[in-house]
Amino acid sequence: MLAAALSPEVLAKYEPVIGLEVHVQLLTATKAFCGCANKFGAEPNTNVCPVCLGLPGALPVLNAKAVEFATLAALALNCQVRERSIFARKNYFYPDLPKGYQISQYDKPLAGHGWIEVPAAGGATDGVPGDGSMSPGRKRIGITRLHMEEDAGKSLHEGFADSATRTCLDLNRCGTPLIEIVSEPDIRTPAEAFEYLTRLKEILLYTGVSDCNMEEGSLRCDANVSVRLRGAERFGTKAEVKNVNSFRFIRMALEYEIERQIETIESGGRVAQETRLWNADEGRTYSMRSKEHAHDYRYFPEPDLPPLILSPAFLTTIRSRLPELPEARRARMIAAYELGAKDAHTLTVSREFADRFEAAAARARNPRRVANLLLSEIGGRLKALGLEQEQSPVSMDGIVLAADLLDEGKISSKQLKQLFDICFGKGEDFPAVYEREKPEQITDASAIEAIVDDVIAANPRQVEQYRAGKKTLAGFFVGQAMKASKGQANPALLNELVAKKLEGPGNRD
Ligand code: ADP
Ligand code: ZN
Ligand code: MG
Repeated sequence: MLAAALSPEVLAKYEPVIGLEVHVQLLTATKAFCGCANKFGAEPNTNVCPVCLGLPGALPVLNAKAVEFATLAALALNCQVRERSIFARKNYFYPDLPKGYQISQYDKPLAGHGWIEVPAAGGATDGVPGDGSMSPGRKRIGITRLHMEEDAGKSLHEGFADSATRTCLDLNRCGTPLIEIVSEPDIRTPAEAFEYLTRLKEILLYTGVSDCNMEEGSLRCDANVSVRLRGAERFGTKAEVKNVNSFRFIRMALEYEIERQIETIESGGRVAQETRLWNADEGRTYSMRSKEHAHDYRYFPEPDLPPLILSPAFLTTIRSRLPELPEARRARMIAAYELGAKDAHTLTVSREFADRFEAAAARARNPRRVANLLLSEIGGRLKALGLEQEQSPVSMDGIVLAADLLDEGKISSKQLKQLFDICFGKGEDFPAVYEREKPEQITDASAIEAIVDDVIAANPRQVEQYRAGKKTLAGFFVGQAMKASKGQANPALLNELVAKKLEGPGNRD
């Protein structure tokens, strides 16, 4: 934390302004401009060739798949895609950039004018477009541009024998296809930045263009932040925080940085335009270097690549490949399965999981019951054991069978709970456990009738109340009788007999 704690009153005088730059590696089989494998974790310097090493005379050839993925991502982020975009050279020296420049895009990027919706802080509808196209309680964060570029190599400063005296270079990553997604300075709180990144990652994962694996560097975020007095029109000077490798750390880095800037201003100083690094161990940012300006890179059009022209037919094809996106899917599933917002999030964490759930639900007699079992019985047990969904011993088929058995009244919910306990205790799937343990069920009507008679005889007061109109008491009798049958009475039959007996001979004519 900072030396002098700032009072809430001082903090409240300022408004943070945040814009995010996100780099995403595309999941193509080969690199952006050559045929080398695009693969994380290979033996250093084995996936390289004259093109990605920048050897003299080698020429780049654009990877069509990278263009398809970049376009798909752009459409999923509501961007307008340029029919004609231009590659440009971004010149700078770095040991892991053998060419001395990165192929990127500059003033004619692939796409722009997109947006992502996030929940608005406090349910406000800040930035809602007047056309009513957006749900209330949500805010749009603009996406300024989405452009294509290539990654640089990696400098390794540790993890090998003489790392104290040497730095090693791994150029496998040179030429990996990237998209850079630059947001408008529309974000106002670290929490909103976290939300934007979470939604962005989710959308990209649904499109399948990247694995977004932050540990492997497939998704990297630079956060730009400034503060200004509330009500002021002009933005303050921003600092850029680079290379933060989790969304949680980005939120923490922004929180730190906002306080640091306010403190600087409050004590009469000025915020410097600079690049800063986040130190997770210390929970603070450090100045790294003063910020380069665009003219430092001496951008110019890439002479080795023609303009990228996308035909309307190509755009139509890519648009047709857009999957149902997370937000739309949640809205549909909330209605279809009568879910709460939180449960809808749980079921849509990944496209693959949501697909498996919906395929299973469609096979069941009662789809809603599949959702309920998955969320309550399975979800609860997983949570208690600290397990992930993929580690559940009960398959989707198992849940469908369980839901159908419940639905047909072949087992009671109490029996089901016991069977699920066995599944989780032994790590076995439900169908096998059910076959083996098939719970005894009393289906003999006269046996159930005897139990119901006993319960009715033992609770005359409740019978009286029921007959006086308190019909909800039926559930009490069903519960008592089910308990008396040790959970073995056929639920459908039991329900029917309880109703019949409670109406009683006295009420018949
Ligand atoms: P630069 O040329 O310094 O890289 P850009 O205009 O390209 O700046 O913006 C980079 C990112 O910084 C964008 O996400 C943008 O929204 C954000 N940004 C720009 N100005 C500010 C500011 N004053 N405060 C916070 N973020 C800003
Ligand atoms: Zn290559
Ligand atoms: Mg920039």
